Amino acid sequence: MRRALFGLLALFLLLPLGGCGRDPLYESAFLAMDTVVQLRFSREGVSDADLKAAAAECEAIVARIEGAISRTAASSETVRFNASAGGIASSDEDFLAVLSASLRAAEETEGAVSPALGRLTELWNVSGGGYVPTEAELAEARAHCDWRALSVADGFAAKTDAALCLDFGAIGKGYAAARLIEYLVTTGIRWGLVSLGGNVALFGEKPDGRAFRVGLTDPADKAAVAGYLSVPDGFVSVSGDYERYFEADGVRYHHIFDPATGRPAASGLHAAAVWSRDGTLADALSTALFVMGAERALAFYDAHPGLFEAVLIADGAIRVTPGLTEGGFEAAGAYSLIP
Ligand code: AMP
Ligand code: MG
Repeated sequence: MRRALFGLLALFLLLPLGGCGRDPLYESAFLAMDTVVQLRFSREGVSDADLKAAAAECEAIVARIEGAISRTAASSETVRFNASAGGIASSDEDFLAVLSASLRAAEETEGAVSPALGRLTELWNVSGGGYVPTEAELAEARAHCDWRALSVADGFAAKTDAALCLDFGAIGKGYAAARLIEYLVTTGIRWGLVSLGGNVALFGEKPDGRAFRVGLTDPADKAAVAGYLSVPDGFVSVSGDYERYFEADGVRYHHIFDPATGRPAASGLHAAAVWSRDGTLADALSTALFVMGAERALAFYDAHPGLFEAVLIADGAIRVTPGLTEGGFEAAGAYSLIP
């Protein structure tokens, strides 16, 4: 028997709620990009009508991006590209930006995160109930997953392999989070957050001047917390083996693939969380670090100073990057922090 299980929230959002009189936070949620998008805005100095208008605009921004990059939306640029033999001319800024950013991430991570895995993710079909491919099927799909067959320039997205398919699952929500914050900082809303699946965007400055506190889900128990991040504004993205998976013949297969094997990554990590000031990058890197495993991930951090911070969760043990060692992360439950 196979079961597909979906985690709706990878992150616990810890913010003060309630109090007397008017709730200090405006909250709203909608479904998009295969997940729940949650908005929480400070009401300070902003009218209810303006808060509502901002939430409506956020919904429109996400719908616009999903319409451009989704693999399933009928007329998306991604669908058009995947059906083409050599690529497409496109004037869609979101599509071109997501493709460029994911190619940069693929290059930087030596393909640990890659937009070219469409054939592989389609074959395993984790979101549709799951399928365990044969070696021959795996080899055939993997033969069409090389990101180096992709390029983008002057409004043309090209591929040299007609059978290659794009999948922006590892980066699209982070890109959307970044575009939402770009808009929200122009609205007069003092501070707040947006959450899309495993991505949280934190903007503005809280009135008490304190850091945002984000609880990370315990991969071994989705109702529990493995630890707490304390970070300034920016983006937190989490990739975990507990988010989407199916089971077949007693084996669990999750949704993050190691491009080197074509199989669910088995790096020893159960989750990787990344904080960065760049939302698109945070999403791309959480997937890449999960695939790399702790040692490669820490070496990657050393080679990219100032770009991000990360929390790497393995069985019972958590490692964090140097920027989080001084109060940036606090382990919880049965987890200990490895220095
Ligand atoms: P995330 O939750 O951000 O780690 O993204 C996982 C999603 O990205 C999966 O559901 C797939 O659609 C896709 N994906 C899986 N493995 C990779 C990978 N190594 N690189 C890029 N995309 C991937
Ligand atoms: Mg990701």
